[in-house]
Amino acid sequence: ESFLTRLRQTEPHLRSFLHVSDTVLRQANELDEKIKRNEEVGPLAGVLVGVKDNICTAGMPSTGGSRILEGYQPPFDATAVRKIKELGGIVVGKTNLDEFGMGSTTEGSAFQVTANPWDVSRVPGGSSGGSAAAVSARQCVVSLGSDTGGSVRQPASFCGVVGLKPTYGRVSRFGLMAYASSLDVIGCFGSSVEDAGILLQAISGHDKLDATSSKQEVPDFTSQFISLNLLESKPLKGLRIGLIRETLDDGVDSGVNSAIRGAASHLEELGCSVSEVSLPSFSLGLPAYYILASSESSSNLSRYDGVRYGNQVTADELNALYGDSRAKGFGHEVKMRILMGTYALSAGYYDAYYKRAQQVRTIIQKSFKAALDEHDILISPAAPSAAYKIGEKKNDPLAMYAGDIMTVNVNLAGLPALVLPCGFVDGGSAGLPVGLQMIGAPFDEEKLLKVGHVFE
Ligand code: GLN
Repeated sequence: ESFLTRLRQTEPHLRSFLHVSDTVLRQANELDEKIKRNEEVGPLAGVLVGVKDNICTAGMPSTGGSRILEGYQPPFDATAVRKIKELGGIVVGKTNLDEFGMGSTTEGSAFQVTANPWDVSRVPGGSSGGSAAAVSARQCVVSLGSDTGGSVRQPASFCGVVGLKPTYGRVSRFGLMAYASSLDVIGCFGSSVEDAGILLQAISGHDKLDATSSKQEVPDFTSQFISLNLLESKPLKGLRIGLIRETLDDGVDSGVNSAIRGAASHLEELGCSVSEVSLPSFSLGLPAYYILASSESSSNLSRYDGVRYGNQVTADELNALYGDSRAKGFGHEVKMRILMGTYALSAGYYDAYYKRAQQVRTIIQKSFKAALDEHDILISPAAPSAAYKIGEKKNDPLAMYAGDIMTVNVNLAGLPALVLPCGFVDGGSAGLPVGLQMIGAPFDEEKLLKVGHVFE
């Protein structure tokens, strides 16, 4: 009840949700009854979870933030959602996003603009801005987002919450609307590292419905939160941290820079050794990402043809039905991505763009591997600035894309990364949060959670 009251009070200002469930209290009461009868309830019993609206939920709208899916209600739950429900979690509603995850501000939603709870004249980041704002404003306990190029980590940074992007394949993508399938992963938001870890525990693991989900064993991420001795003077003794040189100074807001350097000193105080590490290919990540993500999306979005899902226009013949449904159903940014992707994949340009970008991706993977052979964890800012004003970059897509520089490389390499608040810069009435990004070796979420938990 307290969460729902808070949600009702804050939602008119934030607009984080596209849909709020009307069965939350009923589900909570049913859990209470079970407890009274001494029946088993799961470890997430009564935990309110927000779910990004590009993740399918049975019997609840799932629009992907797009008009083309307005009114669509999937007949099934995404695997991650199913697992949450099986453990007693309650889906409180569907959170706002940039259409199909394409954007960094949540202004690209076809339905509404979400505001940043720290300053409602600013963006919450994106594309999972609704999920980040909802946890930040305590409209729900934890939430699910998706991260193709930073969409969990950048909004976590802008909204001052914890955001966790798991290793590619750690969490099933079944029921996640595909944007760029080789990069997409479902991720977690929480107001503490522990909360994000508990949610990761719930949704991880192999799923036969997603052939790219990994068979790697899922460790117990959460027991370490209890066993860690936070009173020890150097709890992280012996850990080697690499501060990525290319992510500091040039093009980075000075307040962000000093917050990250401050975080590095704090890690040293906790016993880590911190050294700078160079990833010379870092700046290639952005162009490679936008070519690959657009290419994959141009193929993935061909399923929205006005026949199989959602909205259909009336037309005299089949091609007009496809064309008009897509023309009316997709927003501007989505159309631009489809055009860019189709161009990059077309005969004559394929080698120059798509193939080249794949080669760059391999170089980036190798340079991360080399850096992670020498270090336990790499650190960087999660974004080059704190949250900016709504409208500021709306008509300048390249400026918006440039803000993804800190996060896209991690998706190209398929690595896990954790973002957590590490300081403030001036802005708003209370300052604006800055996020520290910690990047780990494949399937080493456990270490990220440990270091993050000690750090906060
Ligand atoms: N901002 C990036 C994009 O628009 C990343 C989005 C995401 O991770 N879904 O593609």
